[in-house]
Amino acid sequence: MELIIPVIIIFTFFIGSFVLISMHLRKMGQRRALPERDAYRQRHGSLACRHCGATGARDYGLDDQNDDKRIVACADCGKDLFQYLRAAAPAAV
Ligand SMILES: [Zn+2]
Repeated sequence: MELIIPVIIIFTFFIGSFVLISMHLRKMGQRRALPERDAYRQRHGSLACRHCGATGARDYGLDDQNDDKRIVACADCGKDLFQYLRAAAPAAV
């Protein structure tokens, strides 16, 4: 009976971890499925946010800050809009 509390704590930890990882994986999958920049422009007529109409945007790497696969999100509402592949930077001399 005295084992019940630790078992509940451990299960809660594992279930919480599972939920967090699932949410992260789902978000990453949604980002990978974002349309390419040209496809987005064709479909919506411009690169403006399709949710709020703002033209400001910020971009970030898919996997990390230096990833060449860039995700562009609206600067106003923060929703992900499209992705593009950044041209490889010239090698440092
Ligand atoms: Zn927006």
